[in-house]
Amino acid sequence: MLSIFVEASCNRYNRDECIDCHVYEPLADIPKSDWHMTPDQARLMASKIKQVDTLNSLAQQEINLTGGEATQNPHIVEITKIFQSASPSVCVHTNLEINSKSSKRWLRLIEIVKGGGRVDITLYPTAWEKFQKPLLKELITLQNRMIINLIFENLIHLQEQIQLLKVFFSTEEQNFKHVVKLLQQYNEKVSWLVKNQAECDDKVYETHMGGTEAFAHGENFTLGLSLLPAFRVDTEGMRSMTSIPFPQNPYIIHCPAARGSIDIMTILQTGEMTPCCDVGNLKCQPKFGNLITDSPKEIMEKFEESSKVMAIGISKNQENLKNGNLGKLVKEGIPPYCG
Ligand code: SF4
Repeated sequence: MLSIFVEASCNRYNRDECIDCHVYEPLADIPKSDWHMTPDQARLMASKIKQVDTLNSLAQQEINLTGGEATQNPHIVEITKIFQSASPSVCVHTNLEINSKSSKRWLRLIEIVKGGGRVDITLYPTAWEKFQKPLLKELITLQNRMIINLIFENLIHLQEQIQLLKVFFSTEEQNFKHVVKLLQQYNEKVSWLVKNQAECDDKVYETHMGGTEAFAHGENFTLGLSLLPAFRVDTEGMRSMTSIPFPQNPYIIHCPAARGSIDIMTILQTGEMTPCCDVGNLKCQPKFGNLITDSPKEIMEKFEESSKVMAIGISKNQENLKNGNLGKLVKEGIPPYCG
């Protein structure tokens, strides 16, 4: 999958059109004039993607357009169409924190879905009742598949979000029995942990939740659930070693690129690439090229060069973890939690 940032503005406070919104790390350095990716930049990226085999095969799986808040980009409908020329499956991620159905942001989403794109969301309990729920109600009648991300700070927080969704899908008119069934399985598992092992570590959590399907497939609608622990990010934009819900153990990312396999590529608006689901705040230093300014040949050379640097950095990280040197930075510029 390719994950492409198309917008710097975050939209959490000005819920409709972008007036003077907030921009956080890792996008904070992008000047305001460049907050919205332009169709010309998208065209250049799409054409390069087609010319670089590794990127082209990731695009055949999926291109995920994200940000910031992707719907804040006034060109997002056109940009989605441009990336559809490079991928059979393009989805736009949104927080769905939109005031009303007359908002341009909502109208853009409708156009995207009509044009064959998919809309995925992250659930925010604070925005659920007033903003997300009424729009989700309509969204699930317009598209037949979606992924909902649940970001949780503790198990009770996760339980609440699963229950919100379960109640929501239980009361919908369409046939969502398969979705409710999957949500019920999650609910039972998480509720058991809340009751019996509320302070458990990530290993107990993973073992207990293991085996639960990520997708509820149905004839008319398929829902995917992605459960993501939250992380603290410091003022410099660096992620902490442990997740918030499971502070007992470092949260280690097993880097496929250091093992010679590129399974995912994140592309910032500036064109810079990182071969993991890094939203930018992992601050991985080895460069995988710039999709806007580098030629396909230069990109491939950087892939090779940087994969080797990563492999060295990761073996040093593994040593540091073994020796109790948690969080020590290695000169290869690999985040200390990548192993
Ligand atoms: S070393 Fe870490 S941050 Fe860098 S690409 Fe690999 S997993 Fe991502």
